[in-house]
Amino acid sequence: MFKDYNLENVKAKVSEALVKAKKSNELYNDVVTFVDPSEQLATMPKSGKMLGIPIALKDNVCTKGIKTTACSNILNDYVPIYDATIVKKLKDAGAITICKTNMDELAMGGTNLTSNIGACLNPWDTSRMSGGSSGGSAAIVASGAVDFAIGSDTGDSVRKPASYCGVVGVKPTYGRISRYGIIPYSSSLDHVGYFTRSIYDASVALEVLAGRDDLDMTSSNREVEAYSDNLNSDIRGKKIAIFKNVYDGLTNEQTKEIFGKLLANLKAKGAIVEEVSFDEQLLKAILPTYYLIANCEATANHSNLDGIRFGVRKDGKDVEEIMINSRTAGFGSLIRKRFVIGSYGLFVENQEKLFRQAQRVRRLIVEEVKRCLDNYDCLIAPASNDIAPKLDDHGRDELSNEYLIVENHMIIGNFTGYPSMTLPMGLIDGCPIGVNITCRAFDEQTMFNIGASIEEITGLKDLKKEVA
Ligand code: GLN
Repeated sequence: MFKDYNLENVKAKVSEALVKAKKSNELYNDVVTFVDPSEQLATMPKSGKMLGIPIALKDNVCTKGIKTTACSNILNDYVPIYDATIVKKLKDAGAITICKTNMDELAMGGTNLTSNIGACLNPWDTSRMSGGSSGGSAAIVASGAVDFAIGSDTGDSVRKPASYCGVVGVKPTYGRISRYGIIPYSSSLDHVGYFTRSIYDASVALEVLAGRDDLDMTSSNREVEAYSDNLNSDIRGKKIAIFKNVYDGLTNEQTKEIFGKLLANLKAKGAIVEEVSFDEQLLKAILPTYYLIANCEATANHSNLDGIRFGVRKDGKDVEEIMINSRTAGFGSLIRKRFVIGSYGLFVENQEKLFRQAQRVRRLIVEEVKRCLDNYDCLIAPASNDIAPKLDDHGRDELSNEYLIVENHMIIGNFTGYPSMTLPMGLIDGCPIGVNITCRAFDEQTMFNIGASIEEITGLKDLKKEVA
């Protein structure tokens, strides 16, 4: 990072990043819109924690005067008239946005295959997916074009692509970062998150991004801590709970081996590492519970994308037909399917037995996790069973524990709102795989400290697949 303000140095660094980002985009399709940095360079502050650092923003972050499509046709011509609060904070810290990144349409998806500009490819193996929904942000940090990118995480959309692309993906506590100006998905689950390649950078970034914002009523008044000054990888005496149900569902022997070695090393560093099991029935309910809550809330949140209030308009003979035509043309099939589920769950006659029931199950899951974290500093599990799937991989058994629990356990971080982070733990066949840790509400410091210890063990700090 730049200690002293020197505009020429900043300009050089930003143009180098733009060259790399263009290359990265040619190879991986990770960018939706490039941003001309001249105005930001002319108005940038002379000091700040991210002074002169080129960054990328997921395309669901509103940027004044810059197209923000969330990779949906319905928002193809949407140019916000205001900046999201985090955009202001990043500018105030001296960061320079160079691009908006590819994502699953409206952040709904885990593959980045549903983007209206096409899939984002995995920098480690372009026959594989980047993961989603924040795939573009994960890929562009993995490619080394930028050291920091914003994502959003409603189910695991920062932490899963972080695992697949071999970078650090942070989802802080619900309310820690303002969501004002982020195109919503599911308001009770949405979090702003971000990607870096080191825990230190992740700890600095949260100091920049966190804090109360009166424009977001869900943002917290809690003081922002000095995470980077207090970073400490000494984990002697820290109590770490191995998420046993996830471990038991793993089928990939190499993942088990990498994870097992990591646990042994954490023990060797003085942590108390023990297995913890949760009620299996509750864990199997994670995905259906999530889909109901997320789709119901998404259906309500996106009712304004009707071609009249917002969105590309298609003609029709009356208001209703305009809305139907606009929404039919504007949304991809996955989104339309989810709106059907969401509308069904919200019907007056269904609301109690579906939406409200899902909220009750969510509460039971939260209580289970809370009980565990009352006794442990952190819950740990592989972020996924495997490295990134192939782009055409549809062969999953959606009723297996491997899928229901192993591939979706990180949703717990959204149900609880607890801070959760993925960082690389190893490589299989030349592709990265991540480990996920979840800590108590607002205990990001412990999360970063344990992360720093893991980073020392793996030696995978600043892992990247650099574009030439
Ligand atoms: N894959 C999940 C979904 O499809 C998570 C998405 C997210 O976190 N934005 O909803």
